[in-house]
This record gives sequence, C-alpha cells and structure tokens, in this order.
Amino acid sequence: MTVEERYKGIIEWFRQTMPDPRTELNYSNPFELLVAVILSAQCTDKRVNMITPALLEAFPTPEAMSQASENEIFNFIKSVSYPNNKAKSLLGMAKMLVSDFASQVPSDIDSLLKLPGVGRKTANVILSVVFDKAAMAVDTHVFRVSERIGLTTGSKNPVTTEKTLVKHIPEDLIARAHHWLILHGRYVCKSRKPECLECGIRQYCRFWSKSAAGTIN
Ligand code: SF4
Repeated sequence: MTVEERYKGIIEWFRQTMPDPRTELNYSNPFELLVAVILSAQCTDKRVNMITPALLEAFPTPEAMSQASENEIFNFIKSVSYPNNKAKSLLGMAKMLVSDFASQVPSDIDSLLKLPGVGRKTANVILSVVFDKAAMAVDTHVFRVSERIGLTTGSKNPVTTEKTLVKHIPEDLIARAHHWLILHGRYVCKSRKPECLECGIRQYCRFWSKSAAGTIN
C-alpha cells in the first residue's frame, strides 16, 4: 500500500464514521477554550471540565482574570497537573490579552505564541477550533497514532508530524483530522494496548499489517 492510499483510506473511513468530530473540552467562547486548552496540558479533558465552570464563573473574562492573584487562580485549579505553572500562565495570558490584544483571543499563530502558556499545539487548537483554520495540533495521541498507523515514518518531533500530516491531508479536512486522530488515540489506538480487533482502519494500518497476521491482541 502506498502512503497516498493509506491516507485516502483512513480519511474516507473517518469521514463516514465521524463526520463532525468535536473537542471534548467544554467552552462557550474563545477565551474559555484558551483557558481550557492551557489547563489540559498533561491532564485529561474530563478533569479540566470538572474545574473550569467554577474558575470561569469567578473570572469570566480576560479583564476579570487579569485582576486575580496567582494564588486565587491556583485555588480553583489545584486538582490539575502542574497547577502552579498553569496559574502563572493563566494570569500572564489574561494580562497580555488585556494589554496587547484588546481582550480578544488573537487569530494568528504568531500572536497566539506570544501568550504565556501557549505553545504550538495550543495555538493550533485555537486556530482550528475557534477560527476554523487549517491548523493541525499535534498532541501525544496525534503523534503516536500517526506514526503507528504509518501516516508518518520515523517522525522525531511534533512539528515534523504536523508538517507531514498537513502535506497529505486536504486543507478542508485538517481541522477535523486533528479530532479524528485524537479520539482514535484516546479510545481505540491506545498507548499501551491498541484495540486492533475493534479498529475500523486496520486494513490501512502499518502496525496491523506488520503484526504477524493479526496476533497482537
Ligand atoms: S489497527 Fe491497531 S495499531 Fe492500527 S490504528 Fe487500529 S488500533 Fe491502532
């Protein structure tokens, strides 16, 4: 199977079975999503969804959050991973939104990357989910699943994976493909034990095809 055939088969399967995938983070405006994505680094969406309602009720806007103390924010988020760093990032992010971006979440990657707590993955999530741009956010699931399936080969880092995926996936499907790969990695192609026998794309998967006639499960 060529790489093109693999991409084509997988994209078609996801288009049929998951036509409108969504982030599992709860939010109702760009600021809320930015807060949630910053909190979600090395933490589950489920955990983040448990703490954002109270946090965002206390600090519903960049202005409100920018006037909080780091300690006040910490108290709302202490059950997530790295709460000290994240409290610092949220406060810095809110302050910069107010001072440099008229309290609006910016829609270009260079501006997003200036915000404290925002790396390339977070910026790409905002671009694709909020602004519907063809940005591929590569998190741990996307990175692992892409390599395992054979969408990338020997990728050493998320930026290489991002570039390879963007090169092969039609522009209008890139934002959706981000969710497809995350959800597939979360629920089927799991890190330690991929559920290959339950997997709808195994006929296109490099790992499956190399696994001695399907004896891996
Ligand atoms: S066949 Fe197995 S390794 Fe391949 S994508 Fe499906 S779950 Fe992942």
